[in-house]
Amino acid sequence: MNGKSTVKPSFPAKMDLSVGKGVKTHVAAPVAQKLQFVNPSSASKLVKIAPAIPQGLGMDSSTFRARMVRKLANQGITDARVLNAMQTTHRHSFVDTALANQAYEDTSLPIGWGQTISKPNVVARMVELLFEGKKGNLGRVLEIGTGCGYQAAVLSHIAHEVYSIERVAGLYEKARENFRPFRIKNTHLLFGDGMLGFPKGAPYTGIIAAAGGDAIPQAWVDQLAVGGRIVAPVTNKVSGEQSLVVVDKTESGLTRTVLELVQFVPLKSGVT
Ligand code: SAH
Repeated sequence: MNGKSTVKPSFPAKMDLSVGKGVKTHVAAPVAQKLQFVNPSSASKLVKIAPAIPQGLGMDSSTFRARMVRKLANQGITDARVLNAMQTTHRHSFVDTALANQAYEDTSLPIGWGQTISKPNVVARMVELLFEGKKGNLGRVLEIGTGCGYQAAVLSHIAHEVYSIERVAGLYEKARENFRPFRIKNTHLLFGDGMLGFPKGAPYTGIIAAAGGDAIPQAWVDQLAVGGRIVAPVTNKVSGEQSLVVVDKTESGLTRTVLELVQFVPLKSGVT
């Protein structure tokens, strides 16, 4: 398999084993107690299958999430769908056990392979932007940079269907492992180069990138539906500064809005 191909999703998505040859895979350290969703699209139907006292958190993790969500609301996140998804998604289950006690702090955390899980307020901000002005559940969303899978899980609560693509085989495996205890049926985890998008799932009503290049790849624009939006960090070639950029596709063309400065890992081509 060359570096440019992607693996077609299936439920659960399968990895092309030819890709993994010679690649060190990593199985996420088990988190002591995980919870399981009955219906991923409904926060209210979250069912506990184990006591909700994650190791290192010392008390019910929902209390920590509620505190995090209050903070997000104070920081200006207003979309109830986003706040609800942030309340529902167990961030502590997506980081290594040793970091679980920091999972609800407003901080990015290492997830291995030199990558990080974004801060909760960055995730909430980007997801809110993606759904801005859209009523109900967003149709099909493409996420570039699955990482540990946290943001994909957040998206799964709001989008009808999520395609999330990761270029690092070890992280792709880790995300799959992290997803396992939750029955998230509307999310396809894919291994491949997200710079090429994922044409088989197109058109997307939303495309969100967790890694920043110096331009928005044309493939993303091509795979975006009319009425859809891209939210991505983009690095200015001259200043070297990275900003959040929103691209809206309308009948009459594209509009591009540059927002606040951000710090994301680089968008890289190919797979590893
Ligand atoms: N949303 C993630 C954040 C992961 S960090 C989370 O919740 O954990 C960004 C990720 O983008 C990294 O895992 C990095 O490997 C990945 N990435 C960078 N360039 C990519 C590309 N071209 N295609 C797919 N993933 C890419």
